[in-house]
Amino acid sequence: MRTLLMGPPGAGKGTQAVLLSKALAAPHISTGDMFRKAVEEGTALGLEAQGFMDAGQLVPDEVTVGIVRERLMEPDCLKGFLLDGFPRTIPQAEALDRILESVQAPLDIVLNIAAGREELMARITGRRMCHVCGASFHVLFNPPAKEGVCDQCGGELYQRDDDGAETVGKRLDVYERQTRPLLDWYAKQGLVADIDGNQSVEDVAGEIMNAIHGRRS
Ligand code: ADP
Ligand code: AMP
Repeated sequence: MRTLLMGPPGAGKGTQAVLLSKALAAPHISTGDMFRKAVEEGTALGLEAQGFMDAGQLVPDEVTVGIVRERLMEPDCLKGFLLDGFPRTIPQAEALDRILESVQAPLDIVLNIAAGREELMARITGRRMCHVCGASFHVLFNPPAKEGVCDQCGGELYQRDDDGAETVGKRLDVYERQTRPLLDWYAKQGLVADIDGNQSVEDVAGEIMNAIHGRRS
């Protein structure tokens, strides 16, 4: 399956992607994770991306499309993939269409996870990420067994620089302005499955699996 996970920051894309990637045996490709890794490693890409990320803005399309194109050409993506956080603009969606057309591998489904703004704010400001494996937790809604320590790998948990209340507001505005219009774009192609993100992690995962089975049959 070639799947896109869409929805505003904090909707639960990363959380669901980890579960879905296992269920579908498809690589999880998160542009946010790729940029964060580049920032941590201090690469040229990281230096370029960091200012935009800290300001709650999108990294320029040429840069973002470039890293996704390269990643999708890797052999593990031949049988399918799960894109999380890409595309986020119309030019990115157009570029993705061209990339997939060139390998005759169209998208199968766009999962649109929705949640209200207050819930998103609460989720993002309480989010904690693992420095080592990138797993995402929440201080209240999804706490790790031991405070500050990742359940998956024992790594140290941290709060993202862009998860403070002020930057979160900007990121949600950027989503409304630049990314939400993509839903129309994909709806016209008959690809969108709407998922209610205002449920437990397990119930959201169940709704996603139903949508995927419905698409396959
Ligand atoms: P996104 O990748 O869409 O930005 P995440 O998956 O990182 O979102 O989730 C944002 C925060 O909300 C994390 O702290 C996560 O643990 C928490 N979270 C995810 N899904 C749910 C849910 N269904 N209910 C409550 N909290 C959730
Ligand atoms: P995320 O982890 O998906 O919330 O992304 C964190 C940040 O990385 C975003 O606020 C952007 O600055 C940058 N980013 C991630 N994906 C994209 C994308 N598709 N286009 C532009 N910037 C992105």
